Amino acid sequence: MSPPMGPVCARCPVVLGASCCEVKEDERLATLTRSDVERIAEHTGLSPRRFVVEEYLTEEETAGYEARRPLYRGYFRRAPVRLTLAIRAGACVFHEKGRGCGLPGDVRPVACRLYPFERWPDGSWSVQMGRYGDLDEARAGGDACLAVEESTSMDEVLAAFRTTRETIESLGEQLAEEARAHGRG
Ligand code: SF4
Ligand code: SF4
Repeated sequence: MSPPMGPVCARCPVVLGASCCEVKEDERLATLTRSDVERIAEHTGLSPRRFVVEEYLTEEETAGYEARRPLYRGYFRRAPVRLTLAIRAGACVFHEKGRGCGLPGDVRPVACRLYPFERWPDGSWSVQMGRYGDLDEARAGGDACLAVEESTSMDEVLAAFRTTRETIESLGEQLAEEARAHGRG
């Protein structure tokens, strides 16, 4: 689940074999808020059932999800259901092979725009995945991000996406707000 946000995302499927908008059989894509769904439906004219999948979780799973990912606090308040992007032929329904995301940047789910950055329970920001430090291993192991593999610090990862810490933090605030609103129904 990702934003092809820059040249690194265009090279990623070539170097690593797949981008983060492509998934293996048991994998899921970004979590959607109601705001994401409304924005995408309005832009594409598609009914949400064409691009949204509902995943039912146990109480323990929803509590664990919110504890691990503080930007989603309040998301499950109304129902233990995670909305996520539908998958077609091993990739997000909006993924266009060789071209990346078919949605304009400001229409994409906020979680996609934020990926691979994540705010942790202690308030710090980093990336969601570990770094293999070896492209062959990253290709074989999966769940790798080329920007992370080619960087040695958070600042370098930000630079690879041509973004800034401020932009990422502000997207995080937007996500936290929309996740709370999602939970209020
Ligand atoms: S909406 Fe776009 S960026 Fe997000 S997973 Fe789908 S194709 Fe990738
Ligand atoms: S894994 Fe990283 S580099 Fe690759 S497409 Fe996703 S965000 Fe871009």
